[in-house]
Amino acid sequence: MRLPKLRELKEAIRALFVGPYTSKFPKIAHKAHPNFRGQPKFSAEKCVGCLACEEVCPADALAHKDIIGSTESPKRIMIHYTDTCIFCGQCEAACIAEHEGIKLSNDWELSFFDRKEEPIEAIEKELQLCECCGEAIACKDHLKWISEKIGELTYSSPTLYLSRLKELGIIDQNIISALKKDEGRQARVKILCARCRRKTTLTTS
Ligand code: SF4
Ligand code: SF4
Repeated sequence: MRLPKLRELKEAIRALFVGPYTSKFPKIAHKAHPNFRGQPKFSAEKCVGCLACEEVCPADALAHKDIIGSTESPKRIMIHYTDTCIFCGQCEAACIAEHEGIKLSNDWELSFFDRKEEPIEAIEKELQLCECCGEAIACKDHLKWISEKIGELTYSSPTLYLSRLKELGIIDQNIISALKKDEGRQARVKILCARCRRKTTLTTS
């Protein structure tokens, strides 16, 4: 008969007094260690929809869909495929929103029945469209984030400062009446994507 090793013996004696290391899952829900690296979760409030996390994800577990042209207001859906995630934390490390837009959680329970529906976690962000061609420029929260980062330099970009004024509800008659008198300026002082901005600047200058 082989004698138990000292470590195993110690663990067996310890289990007699403080209980076994294993839990009674699934009868009793298992509580993970606070440092356990579980599936990442988006924060709809903190995420600005910049897609940096999607760029760095090594497992293609992050994706997005831009919904434009429906009856609803344009939006970006940020998607996390929990079944392909490897919990590496690169998304959290790269998140521009102080690493709070997506964060690894303690959640480890990933079993599901319907592969089409359940391994997906998603949030929605409002999109800003180009007022000329209708293409997506960025999420409104991302434009706001850029404005806050660059401060007064925001006023060098009509797209940024007009988005900001619109959001604050102060894109008022001052701007609109000035635009009516000057058609060239009217075309330029709009929220435009880079391509339309270049085209408009060239044709109206
Ligand atoms: S934890 Fe890693 S694999 Fe999972 S979504 Fe983030 S970057 Fe992708
Ligand atoms: S703010 Fe963070 S979580 Fe949101 S899209 Fe950008 S990197 Fe991803």
